[in-house]
Amino acid sequence: MLDRNDPREKINWALSIPFILLHLAPLGMIFFPPSWGDVVACVALYYGRMFFITGVYHRYFGHRGYRMNRFWTFLAAFAGGTSAQKGALWWASHHRWHHRFSDTDRDPHNSNRGFFWSHVGWIICNKYNQTHYETIKDFAKYPELVWLNKYHLVPPTLLGVVVWLIGGWSALFCSFFLSTILLYHGTFSINSLTHKWGKARYKTGETSKNSFILSLVTLGEGWHNNHHYYSSTANQGFFWWEVDISYYVIRLLGLVGIAKDIRVPSDRARFKNWIDEGARDKLARRYGVSAPEEHTHDLDVAVSVPSRSAPSSRPPEFTPAE
Ligand SMILES: [Zn+2]
Ligand SMILES: [Zn+2]
Repeated sequence: MLDRNDPREKINWALSIPFILLHLAPLGMIFFPPSWGDVVACVALYYGRMFFITGVYHRYFGHRGYRMNRFWTFLAAFAGGTSAQKGALWWASHHRWHHRFSDTDRDPHNSNRGFFWSHVGWIICNKYNQTHYETIKDFAKYPELVWLNKYHLVPPTLLGVVVWLIGGWSALFCSFFLSTILLYHGTFSINSLTHKWGKARYKTGETSKNSFILSLVTLGEGWHNNHHYYSSTANQGFFWWEVDISYYVIRLLGLVGIAKDIRVPSDRARFKNWIDEGARDKLARRYGVSAPEEHTHDLDVAVSVPSRSAPSSRPPEFTPAE
């Protein structure tokens, strides 16, 4: 819960009232019942925008798991902005704090403070309302991204107007508002539930877990323990059965030349620091990888696809947990 003794944790009503009203907006469907087309558009806008949160806000702006030129960066930030989760710079700067200070008081959505705080409490209070540009200097040097971060209501408003013009009121309430609310809670579940549900593979020193169900809901973000172990890669599913649709889309963007230097963990990195070393050795044998020595500081850099054998010249932003 919010700490009433900390003035920075007072509920910010200027933010919270629109946030609450947004949650009530889908009730408009009572008066304007949705068509099947509206429902299909709702699902499409949920998953379509989920990609821009996971594949762009998170893996690109948060972790630089791949590269894009300035033009595609702006377009992708704009598309992510239609999710009404503030600007890419606000989103990614707080997320970088989460990785640096996971499960401590300096982690914005410290999961040790309970479900409410990590899911939504940290968003509705004053404490984390501002963007800390010093944490995201690498992107804050582009004025168009700073503009988008400041006027973050422009993209979702435009999308809402377009949906209303195309589909009318029923589409506005179902396809736009309902999908936006579902998208909020799908995204927030990564901050709250993936630090509670599932199983950890790697020793990361915090509470992150891997969850197949949450990966389906969030296009691959459920492999959160993998991600905390090695956060600077474009993929979060580290083995073929770990379904990671955001990564598949990034690879498609790579095929058409939009995404470059797509980073994945080396085999050595994938097979290091397992909690269950017996399971690790069994799988490593199947993959023909000799079980790596633990506690070594040898080559663990991420490698770029498709030339998996050549280490990237760009060092990882965050190194794997030791
Ligand atoms: Zn986390
Ligand atoms: Zn992350």
